[in-house]
Amino acid sequence: MFDPNRVIFFDTTLRDGEQAAGVNLNAAEKLQIAKQLAKLKIEVIEAGFPAASPGDFNCVKTIAREVRGVTVAGLARTKEGDIRAAAQALTEAEHARIHTFIATSPLHMTHKLKMTPEQVVSEARSAVKLARSFVDEVEFSAEDASRSDIDFLIRIFKEAAAAGATILNIPDTVGYAIPDQFAQLVQAIITGVAAPAGVIFSCHTHDDLGLAVANSLAAVRAGVRQVEGTINGMGERGGNAALEEVVMSLKTRADIFGLTTGLETTRLYPVSRLVARLSGVAVPPNKAVVGANAFAHEAGIHQHGVLANRETYEIMRAEDVGSVPAVMVLGKHSGRHAFRDRLETLGYQLDDDQVTRAFETFKRLCDDKKDVTDGDIEAIISDQVLAITPEHSFELKAYAVGVGAGLATATVVILRDGEEMRDAGTGNGPVDAAYNAIKRAINFYPTLENFSIRATSPRSDALGETVVELQFGGVSAQGRGAETDIVKASITAYINAVNRLYTQAAARDIKLLAEPLNANRC
Ligand code: MN
Repeated sequence: MFDPNRVIFFDTTLRDGEQAAGVNLNAAEKLQIAKQLAKLKIEVIEAGFPAASPGDFNCVKTIAREVRGVTVAGLARTKEGDIRAAAQALTEAEHARIHTFIATSPLHMTHKLKMTPEQVVSEARSAVKLARSFVDEVEFSAEDASRSDIDFLIRIFKEAAAAGATILNIPDTVGYAIPDQFAQLVQAIITGVAAPAGVIFSCHTHDDLGLAVANSLAAVRAGVRQVEGTINGMGERGGNAALEEVVMSLKTRADIFGLTTGLETTRLYPVSRLVARLSGVAVPPNKAVVGANAFAHEAGIHQHGVLANRETYEIMRAEDVGSVPAVMVLGKHSGRHAFRDRLETLGYQLDDDQVTRAFETFKRLCDDKKDVTDGDIEAIISDQVLAITPEHSFELKAYAVGVGAGLATATVVILRDGEEMRDAGTGNGPVDAAYNAIKRAINFYPTLENFSIRATSPRSDALGETVVELQFGGVSAQGRGAETDIVKASITAYINAVNRLYTQAAARDIKLLAEPLNANRC
């Protein structure tokens, strides 16, 4: 039942968040995140845009089937085909929602849609009607609302509600709004639309001016009861509203808002880590709520205060957001049970097969290093367990590098369908040389868009974790590698990225050049 004092959350990490430049999550990764969002007790998960591609369709379908206890939403333009695709992808959901949208600002109507306001209203009306013929819950968004005419917004929201929309969303699509002005807009809409009881108003804000969270909170005070956002604020351009910040503001300042939420906030930190790792978008240390330093006190006077009474400098506790360091480090003598336990705490939900594979890798890693940290475990999981290996994928068999002053050489042997491909390359360092050797061996030359390497813990026996982004013919893909040997980690990441590039391209029906040659051209 609708409780007027409760704010519900709509997470769009998997849709709007994934539109962030350079982010490409595969189906297994999206499913992991969705399961974690369910544990966080998010009310609505926007799982994707089913009409966008067969890959998107299947992701939404899988999440709808496998994730329980939440509403799963699929995005759709007002086009009939989009609505039907969303409805079809959502058939197995416990609770399904179709989220349809059309732009309402003069700028978008004239230049993007090339439609008159009349046409836009009629599109919205028929889309909502059609969506309601499939599901009970339909959300309508007026894209670019913050730059739209108020009277027009009121009119189109009235029409959408009359056609059966149950959630009316007010997006600040381009991050243009300012809190008090946005609150006025929201209030004018809520008053003007005078929607029937049970219709929920919602906001969706972007962080182009760093105001996404402030605007969401202003909208809540003005009466919206659904907030849309993403974990870590991940999203296009400056990103979306960071859900963890919105919920902790509502909670910490309940004296101001007087509202409740249903979120299990102790799951915020694990889900934040999971999203950061799987997306490759790191969380800055000073990030509110989930940053590594969010609860660190450095200044002596602060430390003194906190020791005397935590509340002197802490407005919320690390435990409230689940940001608690591991009490126990795993090692050689840790059993499968302790390992599985730790995975759960870190936010992973794996099936038995996956746990078995991860545990084997963990045991191998214990031979290389004494203590295995959380960072190491997360790296193992995301590289070896969640990675979907496409058919005909490339695999590293052997490599050798030689490094001198200003010059390096590398030889690689790569397997594909049992066939060996080997070649050598030179470069200004071992990684450069190895990448040149790989490209020659598989006769495929993508562009390296991004390369990063970090240690999984602040120790010299840590794993080196490499993230590589490759681009070819308009398709881009990320690969990760984690090894105690950083050259091997870099090679693994590159080959994973090539494999993913092939999967992405196949999903979009793009042919990636000729098949690599089976070359023994050493
Ligand atoms: Mn958006």
